[in-house]
Amino acid sequence: MRQFFEKDIHLGILKGGQLGRMLLQPCMNYGIVPHIMDIDPHSPAWAYCRNFVIGDAHAFEDIYNFGKDLDSLTLEFEHVNLESLKKLQSEGVNVYPRPELIEIVQDKGLQKQFYEENGIPTAAYRIAANRKEVERAISPCGIVQKKRVAGYDGKGVVILESSEDICKAFDEPSIIEEKIEIEKEISILVARNTSGQIETFPPVEMVFHQGANMLDYLFSPAALSPQQQAEADILAKTLAEKLQLVGLLAVEMFVTGQGRILVNEIAPRPHNSGHHTIEANATSQFEQHIRAIFNLPLGSTGFHSPAVMVNIVGEPGHEGPVIYRGIRPFLEISGVYVHRYGKRITRPYRKMGHITVVRQCLDDALKIATQIRAEVKAISCQK
Ligand code: ADP
Repeated sequence: MRQFFEKDIHLGILKGGQLGRMLLQPCMNYGIVPHIMDIDPHSPAWAYCRNFVIGDAHAFEDIYNFGKDLDSLTLEFEHVNLESLKKLQSEGVNVYPRPELIEIVQDKGLQKQFYEENGIPTAAYRIAANRKEVERAISPCGIVQKKRVAGYDGKGVVILESSEDICKAFDEPSIIEEKIEIEKEISILVARNTSGQIETFPPVEMVFHQGANMLDYLFSPAALSPQQQAEADILAKTLAEKLQLVGLLAVEMFVTGQGRILVNEIAPRPHNSGHHTIEANATSQFEQHIRAIFNLPLGSTGFHSPAVMVNIVGEPGHEGPVIYRGIRPFLEISGVYVHRYGKRITRPYRKMGHITVVRQCLDDALKIATQIRAEVKAISCQK
């Protein structure tokens, strides 16, 4: 790669959602020239990126043509055409995360197999080819069916408690997991650069929308015993090593009722569980990803203050041009940071923005976050 501080570096980002948009800030700070490809000409990043290319991230040609003249290519979304990334890598473009890692992450079956082969604790599972095989696996303790490919934000996950639930099952290649008695869900972000330096962020605790299976809010630091914290940290670092990670990896874990820590899933890119790091930590997850993929020294990950991050998602029952309600009064409170993603259309549970609350005392931040969750809404006048 051309020397980082000697010439303009051109970085391609697949795609231009909110994560791509937030990756533009450190590109600006480091003088990297960003290029973004997304099928949606009005995606969150387009207004801030002059080199915006309309293209389909599932199409070999589109990615190949987008990436072939760039120095480096990264992504904010892993369900993209893999062959094009492999070809670009073979032709000398620095593709991070590595296509071999993306391949594992694209398929929940391969992910689970990787955990099993590398001694990473995870919920017991089996592979099912179709609904018939799922039906045979239903047990009185409940099972969780997950589509092997293309699931995200709880889409592609269903909990089946009894044989009557089989009508909810997907008739697709899936994994079936034992239903875990989850006490809390946590996430650790870990970064690794090509020199092998590894840094983890402090763990956060994630609280999910009941029913929608997607992140409602998180707080940092997570309430864990020192032993659990160390265990989770080691797991994240072990994964970074074993996967030969370059970039950032979000490691989502369950803490079980018995206090065990199980890895649920990984994402090799900036992640919703790291948005608070923009304001609360010495280095943001977005900057850390940029540092890692350009083999710069990784930044310090410590937090200045505890923080809560609330996702602003589309109000159920509302679909159409978005109106944000209730934000203004919170701007009078110090330590409240608003992020709107610039999506024109809201839909039920679509991620439309987030608000981070940074306070010296986590309980204060949680109280303000509770009010934000009750009062801030992304709605539409067209129902
Ligand atoms: P996605 O990739 O769509 O985010 P996840 O695997 O993270 O899917 O599952 C979404 C949510 O479903 C999890 O955050 C958790 O709340 C619940 N869940 C997933 N797996 C299990 C399990 N084995 N037992 C109990 N709940 C689970």
